[in-house]
Amino acid sequence: MFSKILIANRGEIALRVVRAAREMGVATVAVHSTADSDAMHVRMADESVCIGPPAGTQSYLSVPAIISACEITGAEAIHPGYGFLSENAQFVQVVEDHDLTFIGPTAEHIRIMGDKITAKDTMKKLGVPCVPGSEGGVATLEDAKRIGEEIGYPVIIKATAGGGGRGMKVAQNAAGMEKAFMTARAEGKSNFGNDEVYIEKYLTTPRHIEIQVFGDGKGRAVHLGERDCSLQRRHQKVFEEAPGPAISPEERAAIGKTCAEAVARINYIGAGTIEFLYENGEFYFIEMNTRLQVEHPVTEAIFGVDLVREQIRVASGMDMSFVQEDLKINGHAIEVRINAEKLPNFAPCPGRITQYHAPGGLGVRMDSALYDGYSIPPYYDSLIGKLIVHGRDRPEALARLKRALGELIVDGVDTTVPLFHALLEEEAVLSGGYNIHWLEHWLETNLGGG
Ligand code: ADP
Repeated sequence: MFSKILIANRGEIALRVVRAAREMGVATVAVHSTADSDAMHVRMADESVCIGPPAGTQSYLSVPAIISACEITGAEAIHPGYGFLSENAQFVQVVEDHDLTFIGPTAEHIRIMGDKITAKDTMKKLGVPCVPGSEGGVATLEDAKRIGEEIGYPVIIKATAGGGGRGMKVAQNAAGMEKAFMTARAEGKSNFGNDEVYIEKYLTTPRHIEIQVFGDGKGRAVHLGERDCSLQRRHQKVFEEAPGPAISPEERAAIGKTCAEAVARINYIGAGTIEFLYENGEFYFIEMNTRLQVEHPVTEAIFGVDLVREQIRVASGMDMSFVQEDLKINGHAIEVRINAEKLPNFAPCPGRITQYHAPGGLGVRMDSALYDGYSIPPYYDSLIGKLIVHGRDRPEALARLKRALGELIVDGVDTTVPLFHALLEEEAVLSGGYNIHWLEHWLETNLGGG
């Protein structure tokens, strides 16, 4: 086991990693920008190193600064959290070249899955069901139109390097193809430096179902069921639950087995998520995330395992602490993402927290780096906390969520908490009968934003 690890991230996820490491007796090094000197992750870690000015590109994304911080402190491994450098294959290569360990998959796996066309091709070969669409990249508008006719409209044009909901455009018909094709390419180019796009059938009423997988890098892998993350705004998740209300135990076992076998065959190491759209009883692969997900706590709640602990274990060469047969679902968990944003337009709302009180009690987990008097800097993501509740069943989890949201106090900035109070009054949310488009429609009708 490592004696010291460095966490190349900030906010709640950096804190999350500190907690797992501390329970394992592993010392932690926090890195931070000058804007984060007073951040909770800095206070909670055993040591900290300032790695640059506020801009993420000059601090949390600065590979030389992070490697130097490891060298100065003697950290042996790096946990990347999510976002920032977590899916950067080049970074992983540099880490390895410096005889450090990356707590996550290999550079090669990140590269394969980071390019959506290669990822889809790989998954198809591994027997994972995919959304019907173009075979690989689509270079010209003429080809795009021909493929549109072949698979049938509506279609979605996606940048192969896309992520975070960017670089995706829907064409409802042939007339809309030119604009969608050009925009997806331009977004791919400007956001990700790659204008290659591919085309998929656009599913009109699917749910977003993702399977948590975990591999030991030695050909063994397990699955930890699914999360339903269908409640999305602009292709970004806001509310996630496990197990998925629409998934039967038989479906879970079958798709879970397919996914675990697929990652075992490529000797995948660490945590990964295979994302699907699910419609009319069929799963369609869309992408794989080669890192810990924001919403991993709902899986931890129902399986009673610490995924970060497992990541650290396998990165150090140890085996996973469980096998598939050990993994049994207990109850139901829901997470809501609390952002410092002002409704109805979700405008970022950084500023000083005048009062913070986290909810507690049975089955309540608040993952947040907030504290009284903390100033949320304007430079980073607006996620300020995740409230996770666990109950014996879905109704109990929903009631607990409502109760816990009622106890939460975040004063000084606007947050997305009122959205969740409102959603918990909705029949579609209470019954679990929603799909990936439901929230956008609801926002348009109820907030006029969206
Ligand atoms: P990103 O990498 O930007 O997160 P994904 O490929 O994971 O992009 O897709 C994000 C979301 O976009 C999905 O959860 C879903 O809401 C929507 N989406 C993606 N592909 C399709 C599709 N073929 N049909 C309908 N919606 C889709």
